[in-house]
Amino acid sequence: AGADRLAKVMARAGLCSRRDAELWIKEGRVSVNGRKVVTPAFNVTQDDKIMVDGEPLAAREATRVWMYHKPPGLVVTEKDPEGRETIFEALEEHDLPRVVTIGRLDINTEGLLLLTNDGGLKRVLELPATGWLRKYRVRAFGSVTQEQLDALKQGITVEGIHYGPIEATLERSQGANVWLEVALREGKNREVKNVLGALGLEVNRLIRISYGPFQLGDLPPGKVEAVKARVLRDQL
Ligand code: URA
Repeated sequence: AGADRLAKVMARAGLCSRRDAELWIKEGRVSVNGRKVVTPAFNVTQDDKIMVDGEPLAAREATRVWMYHKPPGLVVTEKDPEGRETIFEALEEHDLPRVVTIGRLDINTEGLLLLTNDGGLKRVLELPATGWLRKYRVRAFGSVTQEQLDALKQGITVEGIHYGPIEATLERSQGANVWLEVALREGKNREVKNVLGALGLEVNRLIRISYGPFQLGDLPPGKVEAVKARVLRDQL
Protein backbone atom coordinates (compact mmCIF):
# COMPACT_ATOMS: atom_id res chain seq x y z
CA ALA A 1 0.00 0.00 0.00
CA GLY A 2 1.15 3.56 -0.72
CA ALA A 3 2.34 5.89 2.01
CA ASP A 4 0.70 9.25 2.72
CA ARG A 5 1.37 12.16 5.03
CA LEU A 6 -0.26 11.70 8.43
CA ALA A 7 -2.04 15.08 8.35
CA LYS A 8 -3.52 14.26 4.93
CA VAL A 9 -4.80 10.89 6.12
CA MET A 10 -6.50 12.51 9.13
CA ALA A 11 -8.15 15.15 6.94
CA ARG A 12 -9.29 12.50 4.46
CA ALA A 13 -10.94 10.57 7.30
CA GLY A 14 -13.21 13.61 7.63
CA LEU A 15 -12.00 14.37 11.12
CA CYS A 16 -10.74 17.90 10.50
CA SER A 17 -9.00 20.09 7.93
CA ARG A 18 -5.42 19.43 6.90
CA ARG A 19 -4.36 22.54 8.82
CA ASP A 20 -6.11 21.38 12.02
CA ALA A 21 -4.48 17.98 11.64
CA GLU A 22 -1.03 19.59 11.42
CA LEU A 23 -1.78 21.57 14.59
CA TRP A 24 -3.08 18.57 16.51
CA ILE A 25 -0.01 16.55 15.50
CA LYS A 26 2.31 19.33 16.71
CA GLU A 27 0.32 19.49 19.96
CA GLY A 28 1.14 15.83 20.56
CA ARG A 29 -2.43 14.55 20.27
CA VAL A 30 -1.67 11.93 17.65
CA SER A 31 0.12 8.60 17.84
CA VAL A 32 1.06 5.99 15.24
CA ASN A 33 1.44 2.37 16.34
CA GLY A 34 1.48 3.48 19.96
CA ARG A 35 4.19 6.16 19.62
CA LYS A 36 3.53 9.89 19.64
CA VAL A 37 4.27 11.56 16.31
CA VAL A 38 4.79 15.36 16.18
CA THR A 39 5.75 15.80 12.50
CA PRO A 40 2.77 16.30 10.16
CA ALA A 41 4.89 15.07 7.22
CA PHE A 42 5.33 11.67 8.87
CA ASN A 43 4.35 8.98 6.36
CA VAL A 44 1.79 6.33 7.19
CA THR A 45 0.29 3.40 5.31
CA GLN A 46 -3.00 1.50 5.58
CA ASP A 47 -1.45 -0.86 8.11
CA ASP A 48 -0.47 1.83 10.62
CA LYS A 49 -2.66 2.30 13.66
CA ILE A 50 -3.45 6.01 14.10
CA MET A 51 -4.87 7.28 17.38
CA VAL A 52 -6.17 10.84 18.01
CA ASP A 53 -6.67 11.86 21.64
CA GLY A 54 -6.35 8.20 22.55
CA GLU A 55 -9.12 7.09 20.16
CA PRO A 56 -8.63 5.12 16.94
CA LEU A 57 -8.90 7.44 13.92
CA ALA A 58 -11.53 5.25 12.29
CA ALA A 59 -13.83 5.51 15.31
CA ARG A 60 -13.67 9.32 15.51
CA GLU A 61 -16.47 11.18 13.85
CA ALA A 62 -15.97 14.58 12.32
CA THR A 63 -17.08 17.45 14.56
CA ARG A 64 -20.49 18.76 13.62
CA VAL A 65 -22.39 21.76 14.95
CA TRP A 66 -26.03 22.75 14.55
CA MET A 67 -27.86 25.97 15.29
CA TYR A 68 -31.14 25.42 17.09
CA HIS A 69 -33.84 28.05 17.60
CA LYS A 70 -34.98 27.09 21.08
CA PRO A 71 -38.61 27.95 21.69
CA PRO A 72 -39.61 29.18 25.16
CA GLY A 73 -40.95 26.57 27.59
CA LEU A 74 -38.41 23.80 26.97
CA VAL A 75 -35.78 22.82 29.54
CA VAL A 76 -32.13 22.42 28.54
CA THR A 77 -31.39 19.21 30.43
CA GLU A 78 -31.21 15.49 29.65
CA LYS A 79 -34.06 14.62 31.99
CA ASP A 80 -36.16 17.07 33.95
CA PRO A 81 -36.98 15.90 37.50
CA GLU A 82 -40.25 17.84 37.29
CA GLY A 83 -41.22 16.11 34.03
CA ARG A 84 -41.26 19.26 31.91
CA GLU A 85 -40.55 18.85 28.19
CA THR A 86 -36.83 18.98 27.35
CA ILE A 87 -35.17 20.25 24.19
CA PHE A 88 -33.95 16.70 23.55
CA GLU A 89 -37.51 15.41 23.40
CA ALA A 90 -38.45 18.26 21.06
CA LEU A 91 -35.38 17.55 18.91
CA GLU A 92 -36.33 13.91 18.29
CA GLU A 93 -38.22 14.83 15.12
CA HIS A 94 -35.01 16.16 13.56
CA ASP A 95 -33.08 12.85 13.38
CA LEU A 96 -29.83 14.27 14.71
CA PRO A 97 -27.06 12.00 15.99
CA ARG A 98 -26.43 12.16 19.75
CA VAL A 99 -25.76 15.81 20.58
CA VAL A 100 -24.89 17.96 23.57
CA THR A 101 -25.53 21.68 23.97
CA ILE A 102 -22.84 24.34 24.06
CA GLY A 103 -23.95 26.31 27.11
CA ARG A 104 -27.57 26.48 28.20
CA LEU A 105 -30.61 28.69 28.12
CA ASP A 106 -33.21 29.07 30.86
CA ILE A 107 -36.62 27.47 30.32
CA ASN A 108 -38.25 30.71 29.20
CA THR A 109 -35.34 31.95 27.14
CA GLU A 110 -35.60 31.67 23.37
CA GLY A 111 -33.22 31.79 20.47
CA LEU A 112 -29.86 30.46 19.44
CA LEU A 113 -28.55 27.35 21.15
CA LEU A 114 -25.61 25.52 19.60
CA LEU A 115 -25.64 21.71 19.48
CA THR A 116 -22.65 19.49 18.73
CA ASN A 117 -21.76 15.80 18.50
CA ASP A 118 -18.33 16.64 20.00
CA GLY A 119 -18.13 16.67 23.80
CA GLY A 120 -14.57 18.02 23.64
CA LEU A 121 -15.72 21.05 21.66
CA LYS A 122 -18.49 21.67 24.20
CA ARG A 123 -15.97 21.69 27.06
CA VAL A 124 -13.56 24.03 25.27
CA LEU A 125 -16.24 26.53 24.26
CA GLU A 126 -17.74 26.53 27.75
CA LEU A 127 -14.41 27.46 29.37
CA PRO A 128 -14.53 31.04 30.73
CA ALA A 129 -11.27 31.74 28.87
CA THR A 130 -12.97 31.09 25.51
CA GLY A 131 -15.36 33.97 26.16
CA TRP A 132 -17.31 34.05 22.90
CA LEU A 133 -19.65 37.04 22.65
CA ARG A 134 -23.33 36.27 23.26
CA LYS A 135 -25.94 38.80 22.12
CA TYR A 136 -29.50 39.01 23.38
CA ARG A 137 -32.64 40.99 22.58
CA VAL A 138 -34.37 41.61 25.87
CA ARG A 139 -37.77 42.92 26.84
CA ALA A 140 -38.01 44.10 30.43
CA PHE A 141 -40.64 45.72 32.60
CA GLY A 142 -39.51 49.06 33.99
CA SER A 143 -37.44 51.97 32.84
CA VAL A 144 -33.73 52.65 32.69
CA THR A 145 -31.35 55.31 31.38
CA GLN A 146 -28.46 54.75 29.00
CA GLU A 147 -26.19 56.11 31.78
CA GLN A 148 -27.28 53.28 34.08
CA LEU A 149 -26.67 50.79 31.30
CA ASP A 150 -23.26 52.31 30.48
CA ALA A 151 -22.16 51.62 34.04
CA LEU A 152 -22.43 47.89 33.28
CA LYS A 153 -19.32 48.20 31.07
CA GLN A 154 -17.31 48.10 34.30
CA GLY A 155 -18.95 44.86 35.37
CA ILE A 156 -21.24 44.57 38.37
CA THR A 157 -21.61 42.48 41.51
CA VAL A 158 -25.12 41.25 42.31
CA GLU A 159 -25.81 39.28 45.48
CA GLY A 160 -22.16 38.37 45.86
CA ILE A 161 -21.65 37.22 42.26
CA HIS A 162 -19.39 39.29 40.02
CA TYR A 163 -20.40 39.71 36.38
CA GLY A 164 -17.84 40.93 33.83
CA PRO A 165 -18.25 43.79 31.33
CA ILE A 166 -21.68 43.98 29.70
CA GLU A 167 -22.68 46.15 26.72
CA ALA A 168 -26.31 47.16 26.94
CA THR A 169 -28.17 49.46 24.56
CA LEU A 170 -31.67 50.82 24.94
CA GLU A 171 -33.54 50.15 21.69
CA ARG A 172 -37.06 51.42 22.37
CA SER A 173 -39.93 51.58 24.84
CA GLN A 174 -43.11 49.55 24.41
CA GLY A 175 -45.80 50.46 26.91
CA ALA A 176 -44.45 49.73 30.39
CA ASN A 177 -41.55 47.74 28.89
CA VAL A 178 -38.22 48.55 27.31
CA TRP A 179 -36.39 46.58 24.62
CA LEU A 180 -32.63 46.30 25.01
CA GLU A 181 -29.76 44.68 23.20
CA VAL A 182 -27.30 43.09 25.59
CA ALA A 183 -23.88 41.59 24.77
CA LEU A 184 -21.64 39.70 27.17
CA ARG A 185 -18.83 37.19 27.07
CA GLU A 186 -19.57 34.94 30.02
CA GLY A 187 -22.55 32.74 30.47
CA LYS A 188 -23.17 32.80 34.19
CA ASN A 189 -26.39 31.34 35.47
CA ARG A 190 -29.27 33.80 34.85
CA GLU A 191 -26.76 36.52 34.04
CA VAL A 192 -28.98 38.83 31.98
CA LYS A 193 -31.91 38.59 34.40
CA ASN A 194 -29.80 39.12 37.50
CA VAL A 195 -27.82 42.04 36.09
CA LEU A 196 -30.83 43.89 34.69
CA GLY A 197 -32.75 43.02 37.84
CA ALA A 198 -30.14 44.94 39.82
CA LEU A 199 -31.14 48.04 37.79
CA GLY A 200 -34.80 47.47 38.63
CA LEU A 201 -35.69 45.90 35.28
CA GLU A 202 -37.74 42.72 35.26
CA VAL A 203 -36.90 40.62 32.20
CA ASN A 204 -40.01 39.11 30.61
CA ARG A 205 -38.66 38.10 27.21
CA LEU A 206 -35.11 36.99 26.44
CA ILE A 207 -33.96 36.01 22.96
CA ARG A 208 -30.39 35.03 22.16
CA ILE A 209 -29.55 36.32 18.68
CA SER A 210 -25.91 35.31 18.36
CA TYR A 211 -23.23 33.15 19.91
CA GLY A 212 -19.66 33.83 18.76
CA PRO A 213 -19.65 33.84 14.95
CA PHE A 214 -23.08 32.19 14.69
CA GLN A 215 -26.27 34.22 14.12
CA LEU A 216 -29.86 33.15 14.75
CA GLY A 217 -30.88 35.06 11.60
CA ASP A 218 -34.32 34.02 10.34
CA LEU A 219 -34.13 30.41 11.55
CA PRO A 220 -37.73 29.73 12.70
CA PRO A 221 -38.49 28.62 16.29
CA GLY A 222 -38.06 24.86 16.76
CA LYS A 223 -35.90 24.51 13.65
CA VAL A 224 -32.34 23.23 13.36
CA GLU A 225 -29.70 24.19 10.81
CA ALA A 226 -26.37 22.41 10.31
CA VAL A 227 -23.33 24.67 10.26
CA LYS A 228 -21.44 23.95 7.05
CA ALA A 229 -18.14 22.08 7.51
CA ARG A 230 -16.26 24.82 5.67
CA VAL A 231 -17.67 27.51 7.97
CA LEU A 232 -16.83 25.43 11.05
CA ARG A 233 -13.27 25.00 9.90
CA ASP A 234 -12.85 28.77 9.64
CA GLN A 235 -14.39 29.40 13.08
CA LEU A 236 -13.10 26.64 15.35
N1 URA B 1 -29.14 35.14 30.83
C1 URA B 1 -30.21 34.71 31.50
O1 URA B 1 -30.61 35.30 32.49
N2 URA B 1 -30.85 33.60 31.05
C2 URA B 1 -30.46 32.92 29.94
O2 URA B 1 -31.09 31.93 29.56
C3 URA B 1 -29.34 33.39 29.25
C4 URA B 1 -28.68 34.49 29.72
